[in-house]
Amino acid sequence: MQEEVVRSEKMRLVSEMAASVAHEIRNPLTAVRGFIHLLGAPGVNEEKRIFYRDICFTELERAELIISDYLSLARTDPETVETIDVNAEVNYLTNILLTYANLNNIKLLAELPDSAPLHTRGDRIKFRQALINIGKNAIEAMPDGGTLELRAERRFNKAVLHITDTGCGMTPAQVSRLGTPFYSTKEKGTGLGTMISFSIIKKMEGKIEVKSEEGKGTKFTLVLPEAKAE
Ligand code: ADP
Ligand code: MG
Repeated sequence: MQEEVVRSEKMRLVSEMAASVAHEIRNPLTAVRGFIHLLGAPGVNEEKRIFYRDICFTELERAELIISDYLSLARTDPETVETIDVNAEVNYLTNILLTYANLNNIKLLAELPDSAPLHTRGDRIKFRQALINIGKNAIEAMPDGGTLELRAERRFNKAVLHITDTGCGMTPAQVSRLGTPFYSTKEKGTGLGTMISFSIIKKMEGKIEVKSEEGKGTKFTLVLPEAKAE
């Protein structure tokens, strides 16, 4: 029953979003059309030609990103609910983010609970996607380097995961817009990543808390039901 409610809610969101997705994709396509037009005009010098071409690539890349993010939200393939080893996922996330962090001069720290293993339940692939979206944002919030900390802990019967960055932070107004479709402050952003993460964690019956201070950094805390090991 719960499962059905979540699914129909999601379908409603997906269909409501279809119109705005179309709009968001039309913008870059319109830009590309315009620049192709300019490319074909007589007397375009080499420098302009390269400039127009690069804009076309950037805009098409943006359209592609929006489509792939939207599709991953709309994916209706059956959920495979399994027991997830939270510590193993923190290690996986560390490995995935390592190169990206190094490229951006960011120190990556991971801290796992030293006691018994920690488990939760859900679709592992989607859970990974939720974590990657949040981790990527944390790195992107630190263009001049910083520290990204991943920490897992057991809190009563909850598996808790903190993703903390020392990046640009957000104002309370910005925090409250998190998770709404197409809210992005990035030139190449899709504004879908956080929404997807929120919806995945909600489906796992968990919640996401965000604490942020402008200029100081942001902490995302994921609180998930703890599951027994299988
Ligand atoms: P995108 O990353 O494509 O912009 P998201 O939905 O992933 O879209 O994020 C939406 C916006 O939320 C970002 O553009 C950014 O302004 C803000 N945001 C998310 N995470 C952080 C963070 N850790 N630090 C600062 N701002 C963040
Ligand atoms: Mg993002």
